[in-house]
Amino acid sequence: MVDVRRIHKSFGALTVLDGVDLQVRRGEVTVLLGPSGSGKSTLLRLINHLERADRGFISVGGELMGYRRAGDRLHELKEREILKQRTRIGFVFQNFNLFGHLTVLENVVEAPISAQRRPRGEVETEARELLARVGLEDKVSEYPRRLSGGQQQRVAIARALALAPDVLLFDEPTSALDPELVGEVLAVIRDLARAGTTMVVVTHELGFAREVADTVVFLDEGRVVEQGPPAEVLDNPRHARTRAFVDKVL
Ligand code: ATP
Ligand code: MG
Repeated sequence: MVDVRRIHKSFGALTVLDGVDLQVRRGEVTVLLGPSGSGKSTLLRLINHLERADRGFISVGGELMGYRRAGDRLHELKEREILKQRTRIGFVFQNFNLFGHLTVLENVVEAPISAQRRPRGEVETEARELLARVGLEDKVSEYPRRLSGGQQQRVAIARALALAPDVLLFDEPTSALDPELVGEVLAVIRDLARAGTTMVVVTHELGFAREVADTVVFLDEGRVVEQGPPAEVLDNPRHARTRAFVDKVL
């Protein structure tokens, strides 16, 4: 579903990703771990073509992100085409990024109506179902500022789901939350995993990773140091750097 091949990315003299490969199969959950600055957010942003790779390719659902092949050349897609590709990828950020001037329901229906040009009635019905799925059926008319962080993040998840994306990307979805609100957001992500949603989750919640991940990928200094099932990478790491990281986070 997501295929990242030999991706390189630098910002000026700083190499952030140095030949990263990542394959995420349909219905699987990949947890991305790594120290601060290891390139996790950059990798998610590259998948969404919010950043451009210096080298390498990324495809989602079999479609090359950001480019069109013409013979053996690549042409970058127009902004409008890139936006259309992005509707197939849901992105949930650390800081929710909800539209503050829109109600919860309006936040969820905005993209399907404006980006996918779907009829409002049908989209609203679906949005109410999604909000019920994340436990917020009684908050549809509320404004984000009147919700807790955990509730806001659950709205953000419903909003991402509203586009029926092929894959959901989460960038530290619980790290801006008070500790007592982390569980309710992880519970929603866990339910999505059980329902077979394809996801890539950057998180330091190792208990969650152990329970939900099919694959854990440990990134350090722009390289994949180790990847495999959580029982291997988290409980029996082969590399000293992975072990040091896991011991520190625990
Ligand atoms: P964290 O755990 O702190 O979120 P991360 O693994 O997500 O870290 P990235 O945000 O991907 O790390 O950043 C990797 C490196 O790239 C960092 O050194 C960061 O300062 C740098 N970087 C990221 N984006 C840019 C940018 N737009 N311009 C310049 N440098 C950047
Ligand atoms: Mg980050």
